[in-house]
Amino acid sequence: MLTLNQLTKAYSVGDPALRDVTFRVPRGQVVGLIGPSGAGKSTLIRCINRLVEPSSGAIYLDETDLTCLGSRELRRARRRIGMIFQEYALVERLTVMENVLSGRLGYVPFWRSFTRRFPGQDIENAYRLLDRVGLLAHADKRADALSGGQRQRVGIARALAQEPELLLVDEPTASLDPKTSRQIMRLITEICAERQLPAIVNIHDVPLAQQFVDRLVGLRAGRMVFDDTPDRLDEAM
Ligand code: ADP
Ligand code: ADP
Repeated sequence: MLTLNQLTKAYSVGDPALRDVTFRVPRGQVVGLIGPSGAGKSTLIRCINRLVEPSSGAIYLDETDLTCLGSRELRRARRRIGMIFQEYALVERLTVMENVLSGRLGYVPFWRSFTRRFPGQDIENAYRLLDRVGLLAHADKRADALSGGQRQRVGIARALAQEPELLLVDEPTASLDPKTSRQIMRLITEICAERQLPAIVNIHDVPLAQQFVDRLVGLRAGRMVFDDTPDRLDEAM
């Protein structure tokens, strides 16, 4: 479970980007994070993976407070957090399989044909993940030969290869057409349910979020202004 407790972030200039944000994400639940541009969505995601230093408050991933970790502990904690990005962040010159295995490793190795260096168990697991995201037939293709939707599926498989305890998903469909966007959102929510993973999805497209996520958290000027099931949004706003 992920717990944000009175999370506040003030950058050196301007009004605070987050003010006293408090909510929990239980295992298996997908929370859609919505709000106008500048509301604090990216800041919230970046506080959790500590690309941004929170000003005050606590962030618990199960028992670990992510806000007070040394650099070594932070590295270990980040391995527990799977990230999925808008622009996929794949290594284009590597194959689909290699991209997925790099998730297991936590970095992209410089040596060639590194697939051979992985234990058979990791390879089998990577094939299982590729099968789950519908890319088994594409395992040996280079990432740059794939469509946007296929690339995002690789991004999902790569995040899962690190066996995360939390998924942070930043605008996963912003570069995709509507039909592919729905397929990707369906895949993410199904996988979180199957694996009982908590997830936060930063998403601009409110109707798409309403269709797929379990719960919506709305931010405005850094404050939580909504926290309920998607069907309640229309009455509230
Ligand atoms: P997004 O559409 O993802 O919210 P933004 O346009 O808000 O992106 O921000 C793009 C980048 O600029 C981010 O890295 C963000 O942290 C940074 N940024 C946004 N606003 C400011 C600001 N007022 N001062 C400095 N950096 C900013
Ligand atoms: P969103 O993702 O909802 O668009 P952001 O988290 O990017 O919102 O931004 C929230 C607020 O924080 C905005 O006012 C933005 O200008 C400001 N901001 C974001 N990043 C920075 C930064 N690096 N330095 C200063 N201000 C920032």
